[in-house]
Amino acid sequence: MKFGAYMYEPEKAEGFDLHLLRVKIETGARIPPVAGMHSNIAIFADNAAVHRHPDWISQSPLGPARMGNGRFNFYWDIVCATQPDHRAEQLDYIEDVDRHSLGVWLNSQYFADHGHCTCPRCNELWRKSGLSWLEWRRKEVTEFISQVRERVKKELVLSIQPDPVCSYERYGVDFDDFAKYADAFNVVMFSKSYATPWYWEMLARAFKKLLKKPVYVSLYVFGPGDSAKDVPSASELLTVSVRCARTGIDGILYLASGASQIRDFQKAAVDKVEFRARLESYGGKPVQEVLDLVTSWEKIVE
Ligand SMILES: [Zn+2]
Repeated sequence: MKFGAYMYEPEKAEGFDLHLLRVKIETGARIPPVAGMHSNIAIFADNAAVHRHPDWISQSPLGPARMGNGRFNFYWDIVCATQPDHRAEQLDYIEDVDRHSLGVWLNSQYFADHGHCTCPRCNELWRKSGLSWLEWRRKEVTEFISQVRERVKKELVLSIQPDPVCSYERYGVDFDDFAKYADAFNVVMFSKSYATPWYWEMLARAFKKLLKKPVYVSLYVFGPGDSAKDVPSASELLTVSVRCARTGIDGILYLASGASQIRDFQKAAVDKVEFRARLESYGGKPVQEVLDLVTSWEKIVE
């Protein structure tokens, strides 16, 4: 297994195999890529682009893909996935970021959710395609990913929502189409609590069965603006890590605003000496790899 730190700030956290930097987040804010890190880019979720071009927002019978539309779970504004100017700019940006870092991990590289997008351009494209609505959406998403693949010379990892059953109907995402272009998948399993690890283990097992490329999962440690009472405990994170690991996934990333928050988590994990010993009974080699990782952190947090 590989273990990674998934960061908002351009700094490497000690004690990980890979370092993923959020160079463009869903607000639209961008920071320069870093040569020794992988780069994470949010594509269609982009508040700034929607602010500049209100007519670019994704449309549906249940309203636009705007933060606050209670019919969906939108935490940001989302651009229509066929918007040609946005696509072109993002492809150029992806190519540049790839050149200046170790590769590109994409987020929100698909339609906003079920029923999207019904803007005039999408309706026109759908009608001309002769395809069913769902197959047309899949074609649009897959074609965009094939264009991304032509621009990315290094590693391309496609993040997906933690929905193993309805991603086709909701986002136009076909996992087998994605597997043709992706070097790996990253399933975002962000939650401010992992109190019920059973569900996350089940999802990890489902994705490992479905996806035809290596599978990473990303867990939430400490986001920008969080306080210590907002975030999962070290015990929860250790438990969910070993339970996901034993499903056979290929790696785990830990999301944090900066290296100091990662270090706080590492220290809290290292301090759970008895708890770590109890987790040894949870499984074989993959569980031991997680526990060995924590052991390797002992010298970092001293
Ligand atoms: Zn549209």
